Amino acid sequence: MNEIRINGERLWSRLMEMATHGALPGGGCNRQALTDEDRAGRELFMQWCRDIGCEIRMDAVGNIFARRAGSDATMPPVITGSHLDTQPSGGKFDGVYGVLAGLEVLHTLHENDVTTLHPLEVVVWTNEEGCRFDTAMMGSAVWSGKMPLDQAYALTDREGRSVREELERIGHLGSADTEPVHAALELHIEQGPVLEAEGKTIGIVTGVQHMSRHRIVIHGQEAHAGPTPMEMRRDPVMALSRILPELYALAAQHGPDGRVTFGFLEALPGSSNTVPGRLELTVDIRHPLEDYYREMLSGYQRIVEGACSALQLDFEMQCFWEAPGVEFDTGCIAAVREATLQCKLSGREMVSGAGHDACNVSTVAPTSMIFIPCEGGLSHNEAENTLPQQAAAGANVLLGAMLQLAAQDGGRVISK
Ligand SMILES: [Zn+2]
Repeated sequence: MNEIRINGERLWSRLMEMATHGALPGGGCNRQALTDEDRAGRELFMQWCRDIGCEIRMDAVGNIFARRAGSDATMPPVITGSHLDTQPSGGKFDGVYGVLAGLEVLHTLHENDVTTLHPLEVVVWTNEEGCRFDTAMMGSAVWSGKMPLDQAYALTDREGRSVREELERIGHLGSADTEPVHAALELHIEQGPVLEAEGKTIGIVTGVQHMSRHRIVIHGQEAHAGPTPMEMRRDPVMALSRILPELYALAAQHGPDGRVTFGFLEALPGSSNTVPGRLELTVDIRHPLEDYYREMLSGYQRIVEGACSALQLDFEMQCFWEAPGVEFDTGCIAAVREATLQCKLSGREMVSGAGHDACNVSTVAPTSMIFIPCEGGLSHNEAENTLPQQAAAGANVLLGAMLQLAAQDGGRVISK
């Protein structure tokens, strides 16, 4: 049974066929959630699943579950999947690869006549990207109980069309119940440069970083750039000149995985010969380990307070977004590690720097993820790319890990 391998050419040709829906001139895709293009992609996927005898269910938020029966219908399924929706100028692989590799696993078992103990399912989570309807990982959030269904239904796009209206319009408002899951895996492109730089084929993903975003506003006093002596200014950029090196040093002290990013900086009134009266900036802080993450947060607080009070400047700090980190299930991680060895592929353990549907799934089922390299670490970009042999390698690891998990008896608990 371990000798079975997926069909890499079939997987690749399906990736290319899916990319014709919402195709952009630069080679990427615009297939935003619940548009006509998304509907076409979702229906193509369902047709491929029906062709190999899968039973399809759709739930009230449009999540699609394609099931291949196991030998014991009373057992909960091993699920895999990701998303088919894209960014407005997205690539061919983000999300799509995880869905179609899952289908390829089921197709391979179908043509080799393999029956697993547990059923297997491929899931398409609705609106993962959160660009048309502003909540990322929406479908998996509703499924896992993190987000009330009505809250998802009420989200609207820029034209005022709601998730509920659009689900009805494309005919994908289902009624399937939420069922327990034995184990879950999500296969995804890395969306970062580490695997490629190290020449590794498989990322054995052990968790997802802790992350938060903060806004700082520092108040000074507008003054003429000429007559006002330096020591008599109330200049918020002077505080910034202390904050930046100290926060970069804080990230280095918590290296190599600590991250701080200043993505937005604005000094007002924005005149070259006026001392700014107001400075606003955002700080994105991340670390995979909770203790270090907490240390970075308190260090950040201390540094900003210290710099502003030394210069007697008023300031405000606010955390406007936080996503707790995730530690994936040790059993699922072990299955991926074992499958990587069986496939004789090079792998390394790593933590995801981005959020995925697997974060939501992991709150209700044993879960882990598998990464493959992507060219230059590029994603959310039309040029997003991976190699056919890398796509095939990841799908073979998914096959091996799903077979292990689906052969296991009895219930498993989340080991956190
Ligand atoms: Zn994705």
